[in-house]
Amino acid sequence: MIISFDNFNVSFIPKILLLLRLNLIVIMSDTIEKLKCLIIGSGPAGYTAAIYAARANMKPVLYQGTQPGGQLTTTNEVENFPGYPDGITGPEMMMELQKQAERFETDVRDGWVTKVDFTGDVHKVWINETKEIHCDTIIISTGASAKYLGIDSEQKYLKLGGGVSACAVCDGFFYRNQEVAIVGAGDSACEEAHYLSKLCKKVTMLVRRDEFRASKIMANRVKNTANIEILFNTETDEVLGDGQVVTGVRVYNNQTKEKQEIPVTGFFVAIGHKPNTDIFKGFLDLDETGYIINVPGTSRTNVEGVFVSGDAADHVYRQAITAAGTGCMAALDAERYLAGKDETFEVSTSSYN
Ligand code: NDP
Repeated sequence: MIISFDNFNVSFIPKILLLLRLNLIVIMSDTIEKLKCLIIGSGPAGYTAAIYAARANMKPVLYQGTQPGGQLTTTNEVENFPGYPDGITGPEMMMELQKQAERFETDVRDGWVTKVDFTGDVHKVWINETKEIHCDTIIISTGASAKYLGIDSEQKYLKLGGGVSACAVCDGFFYRNQEVAIVGAGDSACEEAHYLSKLCKKVTMLVRRDEFRASKIMANRVKNTANIEILFNTETDEVLGDGQVVTGVRVYNNQTKEKQEIPVTGFFVAIGHKPNTDIFKGFLDLDETGYIINVPGTSRTNVEGVFVSGDAADHVYRQAITAAGTGCMAALDAERYLAGKDETFEVSTSSYN
């Protein structure tokens, strides 16, 4: 379409532009939300931070992210979280935590933080690429994701809760006196294989190279454990099952191409974790793997007013209970930060009870 300006009174143009600009400013200020406390992530760390922040009158808003409930929603039974003597399923536990956070009026929302800007006095965050939020404090609880091999049969039994797991400490107990396999050759795989060896009849370690990546001491520990068999140069071809649960694993030697089937009821994957911290790159100090570096003994990051809790900063413990503990720390640190910045904001005593 061609627009002709021949008969147009050009003196209107600056006024029209001014009006458009004013409208734009009004629209922008309408869409930018201001928050005292934003919590990103809905695992045990995020919900615990929410419970404490809400009770401290910080009116937290929590965005659940792409996997509401976090990693625990991929776990069947949680038996090691204190307070549940009969155990509880991961999804149920996360629903209870959400209910508890909402009881104190945490605003729990669907949505995914796609961009942040921590360069100015106000911390800016964008939800689903569009909605902009300005926050006094931010608690990052975005967690980490276990890496998997990615083969169809592994994913199938993982989703079914039928014998594939990336956490021996969480799920090893269900395989007492049974035979299991574990993939990986790093410190995690060695630690988990050793943990499983105390519960299970036999543990077969599948190592893709002819050597361990793990530290000598950890590798020696598994080498010297009688019921751990190590298969070097060995990769997984298929996780075998009856359609419901795992019954074995077919592996192949990547040198000889020889295949074999190993009967197991549990298939553990310990090939590393990836912290969900990509959007914070360039704003927060991260270690070489991407974990957020916190000030030791606190939840503080290198940016004032931005705090971290849970697995996004923890490659060592990675437990629901430790995530919850650091969620509590982050809320208390955020509350103290707010109190120091804003004289009208009183540190509540309720959150310390
Ligand atoms: P790592 O990255 O150290 O090890 C991953 C392992 O998985 C490697 O052996 C790798 O093999 C293997 N792997 C990766 N992809 C595949 C695949 N597709 N198929 C088969 N094998 C695969 O991860 P970790 O989780 O073990 O450790 C992470 C960090 O945490 C490390 O710095 C570690 O030292 C630390 N850590 C320390 C502990 C402690 O001190 N107690 C306990 C646990 C972790 P390859 O070697 O061939 O690349």
